[in-house]
Amino acid sequence: MKVIDHINNAKSTLFSFELLPPLKGSTLQTIFDTIDPLVEFNPAYINVTYHREEVVYRPLPNGSLIPTVLRRRPGTVGIAAAIQHKYKVDIVPHIICGGFTQLETEDALIDLDFLGIHNILVVRGDADKIVGKFEAKSGGHRYAVDLVKQVIAMNNGIYQDESLEKPNPTNYCVGVAGYPEKHAEAPNSISDLQRLKEKVDAGADYVVTQLFFDNSKFFEFEQKCREIGIKVPIIPGIKPISIKEHLSILPKIFNVHLPHELVKGMEKCKDNKAVKELGVEWAITQAKELKANGVPSIHFYTMGKSDNIAKIAKYIF
Ligand code: FAD
Repeated sequence: MKVIDHINNAKSTLFSFELLPPLKGSTLQTIFDTIDPLVEFNPAYINVTYHREEVVYRPLPNGSLIPTVLRRRPGTVGIAAAIQHKYKVDIVPHIICGGFTQLETEDALIDLDFLGIHNILVVRGDADKIVGKFEAKSGGHRYAVDLVKQVIAMNNGIYQDESLEKPNPTNYCVGVAGYPEKHAEAPNSISDLQRLKEKVDAGADYVVTQLFFDNSKFFEFEQKCREIGIKVPIIPGIKPISIKEHLSILPKIFNVHLPHELVKGMEKCKDNKAVKELGVEWAITQAKELKANGVPSIHFYTMGKSDNIAKIAKYIF
């Protein structure tokens, strides 16, 4: 079933979560071990992120460094198909602009279609850590909106390969990313919202937000989205803090603000066990309020760990 149909048919807030493919060399079992504790809460759908290749510098015996291009977390499509097959749950692989030409994207979408996967989350992809800014592959898309347009064109039977006669229209339900606290590269929140509207106007069915720790940021964002005419469902994404290092890492990576009360509480924690407990408590409070406000789904960022998400889900769903 499509995510948008789950949302439209739901009588109350849905439970969903995101998984990262394991690091190269791990088994599929590591993914199943993350999912198993969450199955009892009846996830409406499960997302699987996509990771582009990156440049890694490897030392040579003479001490110099050699750049190597590799993908640390391959396997999104295989994992998505395996999860769908094993758990009979709807799966939402992410597809990204980075590292793909438009024709390669077309082939990837054909693979997913053949696997019976009809939900995708379309994102641009992160900037290369070393280059420091996002660079599209030659013949690829620069912005997520262009990738949305390609998918919607395929849904209308229009492929990049113009030599095809009457190609099969695909049937993708498309999610896109939104940023309650603004995307890090956007000059201001108004232009960022306009960019989000362009993705929705291009045919996105719903928005999933970047993680946030202060619900007021989400409610303000939702209101501003409605004011500029974004009418599709907006799904909040949340993540419980689980280690003290998150206090410095998360704001930097995700451009999010951590409320003072949360930071003060975390700083008093003696160890990471206490940090994890407080992270769960904070997320439960967030989720209760979001649910009380009738959000369509609460989407949890697992980052490969599900014991804390299970504790939250037990309270909320
Ligand atoms: P875009 O919508 O393209 O926006 C990127 C920036 O460009 C923004 O600042 C926007 O304001 C600006 N912009 C957009 N259009 C234009 C335009 N036409 N002209 C000028 N400026 C423009 N990353 C991964 O690598 N893999 C994943 O699986 C993944 N999943 C994610 C899931 C969610 C729910 C979220 C919130 C993020 C995810 N990311 C993932 C991270 C995402 O790729 C990054 O945040 C990326 O930097 C932006 O992606 P986007 O789709 O929002 O980009």
